[in-house]
Amino acid sequence: MSNEAFTPAYLGELNLRFARTTPLELLQWAAKAFGDKVALCSAFGPEGMVLLHLVSQLEHRMRVFTLDTGRLPPETHEVMQRCEERYGISIEVYAPDSADVHEMVRGHGINLFYKGVEQRELCCKVRKVAPLIRALEGLSAWITGLRRSQAASRQEIERLQIDADHRNIMKLNPLAGWSEQQVWEYIISHQLPYNALHDRGYRSIGCAPCTRPTNPGGDLRSGRWWWENTNWKECGLHARTVRNVSDSLVAWSAKGGENGAG
Ligand code: SF4
Repeated sequence: MSNEAFTPAYLGELNLRFARTTPLELLQWAAKAFGDKVALCSAFGPEGMVLLHLVSQLEHRMRVFTLDTGRLPPETHEVMQRCEERYGISIEVYAPDSADVHEMVRGHGINLFYKGVEQRELCCKVRKVAPLIRALEGLSAWITGLRRSQAASRQEIERLQIDADHRNIMKLNPLAGWSEQQVWEYIISHQLPYNALHDRGYRSIGCAPCTRPTNPGGDLRSGRWWWENTNWKECGLHARTVRNVSDSLVAWSAKGGENGAG
């Protein structure tokens, strides 16, 4: 299926059509529509565990890729290996360009992200955003674990979107409407593996130096880049998906975000 087929009107129709279907039904449609031109991107968070399980039920094997920034905690690699063994798959790993990392570290230091938002965004750009561009080469669609209730910046997410940051390919967010509680109920009921750090108070896990356990009652992503004085907890991977939602940030703060286990 060509990307040109996805006009805003057609996309609206698709979102209406899939509004009441299950995430598996959406994935089945995507596998049929895009064939080997669609892949699942997983960072091995709780949503990734659900999606890997769903994708394993598809008739044909779907490509799965991940971005290894070089700063991930060992627990993330452990759960990645467990997933490969459980599903009998080989996960494609995209790493940052070593010359880019070298130049960044030489200019700003190995832990530049603590120096300011600009430096942190540079690090995310080198270690995450650029590898993602390479991972998406040749794809017509990709699948993410984004959910609306993860953050104020994600409240406008649709199940099917055009990814303006990446050649206008299709971006599918099958769990867009799920709550954190639904995700964990699925993991528990299907006895899925998950990152061991979740049992130590981490609710959202990224790179080791940029993630810490979440304070009780804190926002889901408050353990990410905790030293930054902002609710904007994004690394740039989903830039336009989550852009222009500053009003949502205000409303989110007033509501208290996605707190507690629910
Ligand atoms: S999360 Fe931290 S270490 Fe990882 S890419 Fe972003 S700034 Fe760099």
